[in-house]
Amino acid sequence: MEGIDRVKQVYGYNLTDVKLHNRFLVYNTIRLHGPIRRASVARKTRLTRATITNIINEFIEEGLVTSSQQGDSSHGYLQINPHAFKICAVHLQGAIAKVAVLTPDMEFWENDTVPLDGSPEEALARVAAAVNSFKEKYDLKVMGVAVSGVVDAGRAFIKHSVTLGWEDVCLVEHLQRLVGIPMVVERNANAPLLAEVWQGSAVGKSNVVYVNYGSGIGCGIMMNGELVARDGLVTGELGHITVDPSGPFCHCGNQGCLEALVSVPALVRQCKAISQRFEHIDDGDVESLFAALYAQIEQGDELALNLLKRTAEYVGLALANMITLFGPEVVVLGNGFVKAGEKFCQMIERAVERRVLKSSLGSFQIVPTAIKSDAILVGISSLAIRHLFNGSTVN
Ligand SMILES: [Zn+2]
Repeated sequence: MEGIDRVKQVYGYNLTDVKLHNRFLVYNTIRLHGPIRRASVARKTRLTRATITNIINEFIEEGLVTSSQQGDSSHGYLQINPHAFKICAVHLQGAIAKVAVLTPDMEFWENDTVPLDGSPEEALARVAAAVNSFKEKYDLKVMGVAVSGVVDAGRAFIKHSVTLGWEDVCLVEHLQRLVGIPMVVERNANAPLLAEVWQGSAVGKSNVVYVNYGSGIGCGIMMNGELVARDGLVTGELGHITVDPSGPFCHCGNQGCLEALVSVPALVRQCKAISQRFEHIDDGDVESLFAALYAQIEQGDELALNLLKRTAEYVGLALANMITLFGPEVVVLGNGFVKAGEKFCQMIERAVERRVLKSSLGSFQIVPTAIKSDAILVGISSLAIRHLFNGSTVN
């Protein structure tokens, strides 16, 4: 996995940066392939044996890595030490924040939820208090914060968040300074993609598109190991690309957005128009919606079948456009698609195959997520580890 580092990409790399980069590369190789011998780490990273020896000796001294042979690690099997330190993951998600403590191998150690009512300053002070109570118990080395909205990740600044109802909030001033540990910040839409690359369906891949399905259409893009996102701007908003110029109006003000046609609330509305069966279905309940839709189709309802086909066609069209533009190796379908069921996913795949350039068929895979829960917390924690090694946290 090559640099997800958006903070330093515009600057040159000096020797210290190269060393930090190599340390992360070696650590990540041991994490992914351990138990592993030193010679295999050298082969996989293409680093010299001298470089590998120095880094591994440092890791063993720092307690980050353990060897099956005490004293002389040159012939032993190496593994990361899951108890070397802890990461604090924070998801500012609306009415509440989830705060969790994780180990470097992504085991959840402890969780808390914090209400986010009041001013941003008051809410963040409560989040800081939760982090500080964990800090008293654990060796928290880094904190990762996932935020919905328009975020300037490099400056740890929330420009605008509809779900939080916040404008221009500095997370350094109102959170990091209150806890005093290094911090990384990222849009929550990118975090599940990072989780897939770390330990899910896209491990070891550098060109990945992640899409999720629910009240909106969430999307993250990674190209050549870098997240495609411009700090402080709205990007990756797949739900708001126009797929039908004369389609229904969207809450963003535009007409014919993908989200206005296929999101779960949009589909619930369209289902209610064709049958009483959908009356009780809630706007946020993907599983019940699709179960009712499949049952209706099973009874021979042509309108329901056409609605499902049309929904899959629009999603497939949007994904095919993404594939044609970015050429990902993997397109990961998030948990919302998994909940909607295999039939829907297969229809989307067939729509993609019909619409991508024939020459690109075979160059990408569409796979379901391998992370069933807490993908945002896992993803932001993986980014926090990465930045901790790169020395590019906000301090
Ligand atoms: Zn829109």
